[in-house]
Amino acid sequence: MQQLEALVRDARDQVSPSEDRVLRNAGGPQPEFRVLALTGPEAEVARQMQICNACRYCEGFCAVFPAMTRRLEFGKADVNYLANLCHNCGACYHACQYAPPHEFAVNVPHAMATVRGQTYAEYAWPPALGALYKRNGLTVALALAAGLALFLVLALARNGTLLHAPLAGNFYAIFPHNLMAAMFGAVFGFAVLALGIGVTRFWRDVSPGQVSAPAVAEAAKNALTLKYLDGGHGDGCNEEDDRFTLARRRFHHFTFYGFMLCFAATSVATLYHYLLGLPAPYALTSLPVLLGTAGGIGLLVGPAGLLWLNLRRDPAQGDVKQRPMDRGFIALLLLTSATGLALLAWRDSGAMGLLLAVHLGVVMALFATLPYGKFAHGIYRSAALLKSAIEKRQANKLQLGSD
Ligand code: SF4
Ligand code: SF4
Repeated sequence: MQQLEALVRDARDQVSPSEDRVLRNAGGPQPEFRVLALTGPEAEVARQMQICNACRYCEGFCAVFPAMTRRLEFGKADVNYLANLCHNCGACYHACQYAPPHEFAVNVPHAMATVRGQTYAEYAWPPALGALYKRNGLTVALALAAGLALFLVLALARNGTLLHAPLAGNFYAIFPHNLMAAMFGAVFGFAVLALGIGVTRFWRDVSPGQVSAPAVAEAAKNALTLKYLDGGHGDGCNEEDDRFTLARRRFHHFTFYGFMLCFAATSVATLYHYLLGLPAPYALTSLPVLLGTAGGIGLLVGPAGLLWLNLRRDPAQGDVKQRPMDRGFIALLLLTSATGLALLAWRDSGAMGLLLAVHLGVVMALFATLPYGKFAHGIYRSAALLKSAIEKRQANKLQLGSD
């Protein structure tokens, strides 16, 4: 206890909860050596990690604590890495004897969540758009989807194709294939580029070390199974109280694999179109439609469950300021699947044009907000898992803990 109290005093003395500052060393022009001061939220993570490093009760809960034991000090890159490695399962908060109202006020999930939100904005590309993370909430998501859908509906009305006789599900009679491919290819391509540059900058900052096949395999397994949403004991996360539940892990899986099935449906349809010369529409029993239907159902069940959990979650476990961003992304996923399934159900009717315009507007809004919203957490967390798998294979110079 005395050791912990001394650490808390030291940590309070050392950290400066100031605004973001970059201190550049005076001197030689190159190479530029940058000393990055911690922001207030980063300093808070560093303070808490020093307490946890003395306590270590939660060492087996997740990958964060073993990574922590490899460090005695926590700089900006360490803090950003650990924050993105945290899966916000809540286990360490509910287990912690130093959580508020204790004077140490340790709340690791909250501190990590605050820094995570900050890292998305800091690494965003182009940097000027980083502020969108703070504004990308539920209202913006719904307004963007509604605006784009309305734009497409008005375009059809102007062309006289909004109301039409049944077209046997032939979408291309409404929006030509090449027009759709160009529109979505451009928006999706930009999202991939922006996220790719952002995560590359993060990757460089955390000094990952040598990538190896076993490390990649381990990180992929941990990401795909969401290993660290099991609370370290297999019984799951804490949501609104001390009870464990695997619900968040399962709803994440419905969402992720639903998204991937929809992506597979589009990829297979593209191959049919360009390689086999078989343009849409496809039969209900065809591979693209079966994949899309299964994916759409996954994308209904998963986000609906995540929204339900989000509404009930203990607010102390995360950064409540990020909830609008979480809900905006969930809402767009739900709308994408609901409008997609409605389009499939009524594709043989005269309402197909209207349903197609609404669905395309929603999907466009989803793609446009991918780089500046909640989707980023999957990308940065996967990178942090890979760094963790690499680090585990490196010699631990401190020899103060085991991982
Ligand atoms: S979260 Fe609390 S119980 Fe867990 S290691 Fe940190 S100080 Fe100890
Ligand atoms: S909230 Fe869960 S994942 Fe995050 S540090 Fe605590 S135990 Fe680890």
